[in-house]
Amino acid sequence: MEIFKDPVTFQKRMLELKRAGKSIALVPTMGYLHAGHASLLDNARPRADVLVVSIFVNPTQFGPSEDLESYPRDFNRDCALCAAHGADVIFAPDAELMYAPDRSVWVEETKLSRGLCGKARPTHFRGVTTVVAKLFLLSQADVAVFGQKDAQQALVIRRMVRDLNFPIEIVVSPLIRDTDGVAMSSRNTYLSPSERERARVLSRSLAAAREALLAGRPLDEVRQETLSAVTERADRVDYVEFLDSETLEPATAETGEVLIALAAVFGHTRLIDNTLVRLPQA
Ligand code: AMP
Repeated sequence: MEIFKDPVTFQKRMLELKRAGKSIALVPTMGYLHAGHASLLDNARPRADVLVVSIFVNPTQFGPSEDLESYPRDFNRDCALCAAHGADVIFAPDAELMYAPDRSVWVEETKLSRGLCGKARPTHFRGVTTVVAKLFLLSQADVAVFGQKDAQQALVIRRMVRDLNFPIEIVVSPLIRDTDGVAMSSRNTYLSPSERERARVLSRSLAAAREALLAGRPLDEVRQETLSAVTERADRVDYVEFLDSETLEPATAETGEVLIALAAVFGHTRLIDNTLVRLPQA
């Protein structure tokens, strides 16, 4: 496995591989890898000759009061997981090399990134689109794999690729859960045992909401029940939203596929979870 820390050296190597006729798949991550990330690597592996994993805790997507400093890191363990899942190249840049001190260009999506996580984290998606655009250009990837865990992020990236004509295929891979139903996340490491127990309400209420919608129950009623269930167990609820899975507009009885998206805080940890439901047509 080749490991690069310097963006310029990394890009040179990727251009060299490209010129040699190799296709390239990219899996962008912030490290502290778990089985959810591993499933992305497994999904990406057969899609290209060269599998690149980026590991970068991107400062521009963290707000001033967020967990940039304390975000968990374990580079050696990450390398072992990448090797075990067929990665050829790891790109783990230093933040100082990724961003010039006088940088002045951003890539910003202005519609899909406004609601959901964009409300509580107003500068988050600008940081994500900017770093992902840089990663696409540096890696020269033909295909990139993202997780459905971050449903809004996947939609925002797809929109960026469409609107800026990036020559890259975006694949969205299913959300992976732990055995207790909690969606896998590097941030789960912050949870105390009792917070973790309470956090199970997210997957449980998503499953209940999904069943209720499939049984034809009205959206508003199901949304109220989901909100009550999450409110009872979480320390703070950021949102409980039922949206059109493509436009992120509020879902109606006519919506084809509903994205049920939740964000709530347990202790000091903000968790997100979601599920997709195709409404039974009357
Ligand atoms: P992160 O390291 O949290 O920025 O995540 C890197 C990529 O892994 C993103 O595309 C995430 O959506 C994806 N990912 C994180 N957790 C999961 C999960 N539990 N299931 C599927 N994909 C995930």
